[in-house]
Amino acid sequence: MTKDWKTRTTLVHEGSRRSQYGEMAEAIFLTQGFVYPTAEAAEARFVKAGEDEFIYARYGNPTTRMFEERIAALEGTEDAFATASGMAAVNGALTSMLRAGDHVVSSRALFGSCLYILEEVLTRFGVKVTFVDGADLDQWRRAVTPGTKAVFFESMSNPTLELVDIRAVAEIAHAQGALVIVDNVFATPIFSRAVEQGADVVVYSTTKHIDGQGRALGGVICGTTEFIRKVAEPYMKHTGGSMSPFTAWMHLNGMATLDLRCRAMADSAARIAAALEGQAQVTRVIYPGLASHPQHALAMAQMGSGGTLVTFEVAGGKDGAFRFMNALEIARISNNLGDAKTIATHPATTTHQRLPQDQKDALGITPGLIRLSVGLEDAGDLIADLQTALAAI
Ligand SMILES: *Cc1c(COP(=O)(O)O)cnc(C)c1O
Repeated sequence: MTKDWKTRTTLVHEGSRRSQYGEMAEAIFLTQGFVYPTAEAAEARFVKAGEDEFIYARYGNPTTRMFEERIAALEGTEDAFATASGMAAVNGALTSMLRAGDHVVSSRALFGSCLYILEEVLTRFGVKVTFVDGADLDQWRRAVTPGTKAVFFESMSNPTLELVDIRAVAEIAHAQGALVIVDNVFATPIFSRAVEQGADVVVYSTTKHIDGQGRALGGVICGTTEFIRKVAEPYMKHTGGSMSPFTAWMHLNGMATLDLRCRAMADSAARIAAALEGQAQVTRVIYPGLASHPQHALAMAQMGSGGTLVTFEVAGGKDGAFRFMNALEIARISNNLGDAKTIATHPATTTHQRLPQDQKDALGITPGLIRLSVGLEDAGDLIADLQTALAAI
């Protein structure tokens, strides 16, 4: 299917398959298996399954396939494999292609579980991992060598919203023959066109903006047909990390509004960041859409937006942060992001609690730091909620 549909059309229609009933909404096929008309047909399908032929839901399912086709079209990749969670996608993309003795270069500022895979799992199986400061291109140049198999990074880091220059890092990696694997969750598929900028494989936790309503855990690996079907799929389907058809069905519904939601959230995030910059109890505001962000120019060139998250530091350290969070009435204390509901997170004591102090310091995770995932509420209401809570510090 090669159509020159724009994003919003793709998000509503791409990948839709209809049964003999011609149902309007995407059907949910809650079935693990499929009936073959004859023994010969079963044999033939195990030799090679056609486009509309399925064997077992761990291998593929019509609802899951619709989701894979829709997100591949959005991403601009040839194909995609849907996974049970974002971590199944990160683990699948890396573990499926790496073997003992291989070398990987990764940015250091990673989601905790991504760090676990690189630091603990891959190294246990003899993969060598070098960590770099993702924003420092010289460090990438020094670390990526002719033996490097892959580079991995989050295009926008958690929680300090630091960007990696995808185009520049991809050039460095490709010059040495390394594959570029990007975790594009924070930047969102709407704002971060990672493949156009040189990424070979893009992974998502679909738990975030793609579900968009904090309901389902899911993930996806997007890439070439060669990578998805020859490398990622065999690993995923035999190790059990496939997406449930029910999750795929929820994601298909969520995607119809993905562009609208991300843009509305980013508009509110920009207003909130600007409002926070003028507050006495706020000692630092990190938002790539603000001129004060050190990578503002890169953010505008790479994403055309500051994104849907705002990170800021309040006065009074941990006590100040806790007083602030406990006084919030609209924003909820939790740790998801990309949800319709605005969520406040205290990274130092929750998502990044496990990190030793020196690493927290290196990543700028101070006791007063708060990460705000901006939702779909009225921006004025959110700003009023934040101002009231700031006064409680
Ligand atoms: C949430 C997240 C993940 C993990 O996704 P799950 O769906 O929770 O498994 C990976 N990377 C980033 C950047 C995330 O935000």
